[in-house]
Amino acid sequence: MEVLPNIHQFRIPIPDNPLGFINAYLITTRDGCLLIDTGWNTPQAFDSLQQQMADVGVTLADLRYIAITHVHPDHYGLVGRIEKHTNARLIIHEIERLLLYSRYVNYQPLLDDMDQWLEVNGVPAEDRPALQLASMEILGLVEVAMPDHVVHGGEHLVLGDFDLEILWTPGHSPGHICLYDASRQVLFAGDHLLEKITPNVSMTSQSISNPLVDYLKSLHQVARCPVQTILPGHGKPFGNLLGRMEEIRQHHERRMEEMLALFQGQTQTAYEIARATTWYTSWENLPYYSRRMAVTETLSHLELLLAQGALLKTTRNGIVWYTPA
Ligand SMILES: [Zn+2]
Ligand SMILES: [Zn+2]
Repeated sequence: MEVLPNIHQFRIPIPDNPLGFINAYLITTRDGCLLIDTGWNTPQAFDSLQQQMADVGVTLADLRYIAITHVHPDHYGLVGRIEKHTNARLIIHEIERLLLYSRYVNYQPLLDDMDQWLEVNGVPAEDRPALQLASMEILGLVEVAMPDHVVHGGEHLVLGDFDLEILWTPGHSPGHICLYDASRQVLFAGDHLLEKITPNVSMTSQSISNPLVDYLKSLHQVARCPVQTILPGHGKPFGNLLGRMEEIRQHHERRMEEMLALFQGQTQTAYEIARATTWYTSWENLPYYSRRMAVTETLSHLELLLAQGALLKTTRNGIVWYTPA
């Protein structure tokens, strides 16, 4: 679908995922094409991308650049397969590049860290193996490709009459980027801003800082840009950037209030609070991967409450406990 002149949205299927599709965007210019995000590494996703490119008269060989908003499998996984058919330069944020090896190449140390992370945050021994290994099956959806250009935010990607500013927007992923076209007032938002759901913001053993603090700051950073059209990683294009930002900010405020109330004045672990928090279905019905994300997302909220002085943190027998201040 051509969402704006020379900007095409391709819906790439991601079956067995509640989101259903990931959006790749193609910008066509007289100087070649730019692809933003790709899909995950399945023959169906690859065929779908090629077919939708063919519909606008473009092949993979016409790509000059591929920019990846972040290295989650649905956005990045297909790049390795695409690379064999194009000389396009691959652009990824430096911090995302650093995650590639530990997540997708030599991942056993990260699995060990995850087990420890779950243990210190109160996940009982009998639940840990399932949560620890919950991401193993999506590893097959990634074929690793290393970037040709790393970016840090602030650079401009110029192609034809397009001038896209790279915005570093950590939170959902530490090296997440958005691409901003000031002249068209268009924001390629990746998973930073979605219309219907709030992006997962998880604190894990790989977090450098509290990702929820980073995320809320990144929202404000994007707010300085006049935007007419947000082109998200999932779902339809939408507008009203400031309105959507405010909804997301309030969502996290409410989440923190809900979690604080669940303590009932008692000392609890992040796992206990995650179990008691409302998710899209009951805890028992949550898939293991979602349970793990529930724990790590709870942690980012508890750590922000801690930073605000609403909680205290202690460690006892290797377990981290939070108590209302
Ligand atoms: Zn993502
Ligand atoms: Zn995504």
